[in-house]
Amino acid sequence: MMSQAQTTHLYSLTAELSGEWPAIIGGEPYTISTRFTNSITPIQQATRYAWEWMAGAGIAVDYHPWSAGGYSNRNVVAVITGTIRPDEIVMAVAHLDSLSPAETRMTLAPGADDNASGSAAVLTMARIFSRYSFSRTLRLALFTGEEQGLLGSSVYAAEARARGDTIVAVVNMDMIAWNSPGTTPTLDIHIRPASSAGYTDDLALAGIFTNVVTAYGLSAHLTPTVHPSGVTASDHASFWQQGYPAMLLIEDYAWPERDFNPYYHTVSDTLQRLDLDYFTAFVKAALGTVAHLAHPIALTHIVYLPLTQRP
Ligand SMILES: [Zn+2]
Repeated sequence: MMSQAQTTHLYSLTAELSGEWPAIIGGEPYTISTRFTNSITPIQQATRYAWEWMAGAGIAVDYHPWSAGGYSNRNVVAVITGTIRPDEIVMAVAHLDSLSPAETRMTLAPGADDNASGSAAVLTMARIFSRYSFSRTLRLALFTGEEQGLLGSSVYAAEARARGDTIVAVVNMDMIAWNSPGTTPTLDIHIRPASSAGYTDDLALAGIFTNVVTAYGLSAHLTPTVHPSGVTASDHASFWQQGYPAMLLIEDYAWPERDFNPYYHTVSDTLQRLDLDYFTAFVKAALGTVAHLAHPIALTHIVYLPLTQRP
């Protein structure tokens, strides 16, 4: 599965999401020049693009409308129902909306790193995971209203808690494609503080990610660093708020080594500035982590079927 996540596909997806070239939406070419939550037509087109991509992968997908903080928009959520433990839910999430300075955001906010990169990761997982079966249920979500205060994910997580959903893991990807040339390819894993009741759960998620990096030979391309007392400035915090295990995967955000995208929230957060090798390795590791969490069925059979019963 990890080897199917390829640079060329991530490049195309990010190009289409960030308006580098036109996307095909509703059968017509359309350039997504901004994904600002209140941009009306552009964000509607961007969410439709995501919906059509997931539906095109052959998996069930819905819009999740929300209203909060004076904003209204829709998330896009796809589901691959688990075949053995369908009530246990693993989520891979990213925010689709973007931001640039107030004078440009209605018409131009490419947000290639923030967060076409994480969105492309979720869409890539949808396409690849659609070809497999998993024990647990996978939900692949793209949220809007993140830049206005995690609005779309807050409503989603609160509704999940109210329904009694058993979400066992949330993997949030926000800005996963910036690495300065010639520097260590550090990435941050943000989890709750050691004093928190949820620390052990989050630490287990972080451990799966770091094990995947090592086990699948990605150590030369990625240097994961775990940060307890993690930042709350992205959608994973909406799930922490509801008591669900979650982690944020992000490029090197934490001090003192910090290597953070200097074009963050400007009109210059574009595809050309991204490190595609770092981006691809990051997506492979995240995809492998989510797959391990969801327990692929074929692997379960290989492990547990007695030797004498094999064909
Ligand atoms: Zn972001």
